[in-house]
Amino acid sequence: MPGQPRTVLRIGDIAIGGDEFVVMAGPCAVESERQVIDTAISVARAGARILRGGAYKPRSSPYSFQGLGVEGLKILSKARDYTGLAVVTEVMSETDVDVVAEYADIMQVGARSMENFSLLERLGMCGRPVLLKRGMTATLEDLLRSAQALVASGNPDVILCERGIRTFETATRNTFDVAAVPVLKMVSHLPVIVDPSHAAGVRVLVPILARAAVAVGADGLLVEVHPQPDKAASDGEQSLTLEQFDAMMTDLQPYLRLRGAATGPLKNGAPGERAYAVAGGVN
Ligand code: PEP
Ligand code: MN
Repeated sequence: MPGQPRTVLRIGDIAIGGDEFVVMAGPCAVESERQVIDTAISVARAGARILRGGAYKPRSSPYSFQGLGVEGLKILSKARDYTGLAVVTEVMSETDVDVVAEYADIMQVGARSMENFSLLERLGMCGRPVLLKRGMTATLEDLLRSAQALVASGNPDVILCERGIRTFETATRNTFDVAAVPVLKMVSHLPVIVDPSHAAGVRVLVPILARAAVAVGADGLLVEVHPQPDKAASDGEQSLTLEQFDAMMTDLQPYLRLRGAATGPLKNGAPGERAYAVAGGVN
């Protein structure tokens, strides 16, 4: 609301919604320890602050990979120990809220679950911030109604996420609603981030949409990154390679400087990286 102070969420030393531009990056789905830890080390080095990765996957087909479940959560938690990154991961069902909250720093509500009000109500009491993604056919008012459901259930720590909406345009997977960011920031005090990966659907567009997100005042990004996108179990076409993610972060710096914002420390090496190397990594 204009005049009302903005919500700044704190997770350890990370502040979302303040001056820092917070980048969350990682694979669409957790597939293996090696995949997640290699990705985590690399994205942390490039300036990401939060590791993403789905252990419970909402898939359009029942025959697609559904995620590793609790095993996937444990892998994410191990990657947090190695790198110091916080973890965001999706929760799809009320019955999984407790176990996801045990391992995650931020609970992600996916586009397909945005209007699952019993899940939102349960997340009101989970004690963790919630990253709420806009539904594919949801208006901004619908998105804010779901945010209100979380707040009314007892959880004021909500991050809104624009991830593209379904329109008649088929050249991109979804249509990135650029205006959603300033509109949401005008009518609400909550942090707003952009997911350029699900908006674009193809990796070549991801850094370009990310730049647009910086320009319109987003508080951060949620980006899919995979060490071998061609072998990814899901969303490989829109996943950046480790090198492409690093290049995107470097490319964003002058745009962030213009805004007076900054990402996490660049190229300093992730805190647990050496320990991981000494331990001989994993398979
Ligand atoms: C995801 O983040 O991998 C995901 C499933 O996104 P969405 O809910 O936006 O489709
Ligand atoms: Mn995905």
